[in-house]
Amino acid sequence: MVMKVPAEARVDLEAIAGNVGMLRERARGAEIMAMVKAEAYGHGLAEAAGAALRGGATWLGVAKLAEALRLRDAGFTVRTLSCLGVPGEPYEQAVARDIDLTVGALWLLEEVVRAAESAGRAARIHLKADTGMSRGGARGSDWEELVDAALKAEASGRVRVVGVMSHLACADEPGHPAIAAQVGAFTEMVEYAEHTGARLEVRHLSNSAGALTLPQARFDLVRPGIALYGLTPVPALGGFGLRPAMTMVADAALVKRAPAGSGVSYGHTYRTTRETTLAVVPVGYGDGIPRHGSNLLEVFAGGARRTIAGRVCMDQFVIDLGDDALSAGEEIILFGPGDRGEPTAQEWADALGTISYEIVTRIGSRVPRAYPGGAL
Ligand SMILES: *Cc1c(COP(=O)(O)O)cnc(C)c1O
Repeated sequence: MVMKVPAEARVDLEAIAGNVGMLRERARGAEIMAMVKAEAYGHGLAEAAGAALRGGATWLGVAKLAEALRLRDAGFTVRTLSCLGVPGEPYEQAVARDIDLTVGALWLLEEVVRAAESAGRAARIHLKADTGMSRGGARGSDWEELVDAALKAEASGRVRVVGVMSHLACADEPGHPAIAAQVGAFTEMVEYAEHTGARLEVRHLSNSAGALTLPQARFDLVRPGIALYGLTPVPALGGFGLRPAMTMVADAALVKRAPAGSGVSYGHTYRTTRETTLAVVPVGYGDGIPRHGSNLLEVFAGGARRTIAGRVCMDQFVIDLGDDALSAGEEIILFGPGDRGEPTAQEWADALGTISYEIVTRIGSRVPRAYPGGAL
């Protein structure tokens, strides 16, 4: 029996595969590492990874090692890079399970070398250069020291220096001067590694914005995240023909008439101006619906856009339908691709002063993910 659930995030895996195809065309020649960290930005780790590989991605990328291990547990044997190095992770398991590791500091190199010794095989590592984001990675003389030490560890069979990588800070702002500066710094830092003796398989710098708009930043491989899920990385330049994969829906839990002057939800920040129909929507900030969206965000219900009436609660919010009809159990679309009149995640982000990444990623684990087209 198919149980109807009161709310779900429907994920169109064909859209993810199609978006990868689009990225491949744009990033001609560069391989695609599908970034599936944070549950694939809320879309479901294994499902999204499968769809991205079906679409032509040849690598998977995550932030944390635990995510990479889960991909291995799910049966993915494809090259997988864990991008965030923190102390005390089970690096021996990572080496044993053939997970590529990002190394941006000497202490981490030392940890990985010890892990490789206990695992009895060489760790595959990508050296992380700080080209101007001032977050992870090494810069200046630290870079030279890191490269030298890594190549020494390679000579003794402890590591294999597979790649050099960095990350762009301002790729979503066309023409930002930091872009050219980072591409230049990356090129020089790769050259230092190669002149020192690195035999690199891949050099990679670009996120979605770089993959779509910066041919000079593509190198051998690009690491798109947000674009896989059909959301634009550069809102100023439009949608790039990407198809949003997530549609967030909830069924009206209760519909009732309320008299004029009714205060709605906590604090009565919304008050009905005449007799009207109110509907309770059974998702709230406990499900990732931003409380800042109170009296602000729109949803699509009963054939039209409605603004959330009053405060978003932990488990529910209210909408005001006026005299329009809606039955309990009828589906309300919170956001989606926009084809049926609903807002997009980008519209929600714009209204809230954030980015679409946050809208989809924060949809909580209490909301089941559904894959209407089946797995890919
Ligand atoms: C998340 C992430 C990306 C993807 O960024 P998008 O802007 O979502 O395309 C790329 N590289 C690294 C290292 C990341 O952590």
